[in-house]
Amino acid sequence: MISRVDLHAHSTASDGRLSPTEVARLAASRGVRLLALTDHDTTAGCAEAQRQAQASGIRLIAGVEINTDSELGEAHLLGYFAGLDHSELQAALTRIQIERAKRAQAIVEKLNTLGVAITMEQVQAQANHTVIGRPHIARALVAGGWVGSPSAAFELYIGQGRRAYIPRYVFSPQEAIGLIRNAGGVAALAHPVRSGNEQHISQLVEFGLNALEVYYFDHAPDDVARLRELAKRHGLLVTGGSDFHDLPKGGGDGRRGLGSVWVPEEDGERLWERVNGLN
Ligand code: AMP
Ligand code: MN
Ligand code: MN
Ligand code: MN
Repeated sequence: MISRVDLHAHSTASDGRLSPTEVARLAASRGVRLLALTDHDTTAGCAEAQRQAQASGIRLIAGVEINTDSELGEAHLLGYFAGLDHSELQAALTRIQIERAKRAQAIVEKLNTLGVAITMEQVQAQANHTVIGRPHIARALVAGGWVGSPSAAFELYIGQGRRAYIPRYVFSPQEAIGLIRNAGGVAALAHPVRSGNEQHISQLVEFGLNALEVYYFDHAPDDVARLRELAKRHGLLVTGGSDFHDLPKGGGDGRRGLGSVWVPEEDGERLWERVNGLN
């Protein structure tokens, strides 16, 4: 199934496997006409993706995905921007990138105490100077022969609650929504099914949430119907995307194929207009 809109994708700027150029080129080749690059905690890939999008004749929205936590649980916020040179936003992203590097170091030390002799240099080699996440540690574990696959690394060591798991520094949802909005951006809740109940979403709306990611690779048709209705009730924009990280041959989840989630063109158009101040 070909979609013409994909508003959630990762690149090598964070934990994706394709460069921003490759993501934009692949999107165009799959018929995506409106793409957003939403790397974890960085907008560093957006300029490159923008150049390729232009060359490929498609539109790109610069974005970011910021994880948050509160007493109501985790919420991943997507920010969509017309421009990225906002000092408060960039300073906050830099801060969280530094915290990520410290956490990766702490996970490596925990692995070492478990007898898994990987080094921070091996992890850095996987991350290649971009924002470090657990997937880079997983890849270093695979490269070192400690586990057979990235998912085994999560299951055995670094997944939530496993022996080498360390939670990461996160913003509160108020902070993340505030950062996105103050930078002139549109704040959307990613994969809302995972963020649970309507009370949680109502609270995020109070904090200034603008949009709901109604269409997502693992949303069932009844999730979509319920979320569309919820978005309407709260006056939220509707977005959607694949959460693309990788081509299946690289060990990625094929269901998260770039452009593989159907998203209504008119919803993409509305987001584009809001981001660019046209409505
Ligand atoms: P981090 O942001 O460092 O906490 O790492 C979270 C990232 O790891 C997510 O954005 C996914 O890309 C990836 N991830 C999470 N759980 C798993 C898993 N069980 N297997 C493979 N990748 C995972
Ligand atoms: Mn990820
Ligand atoms: Mn997420
Ligand atoms: Mn994501």
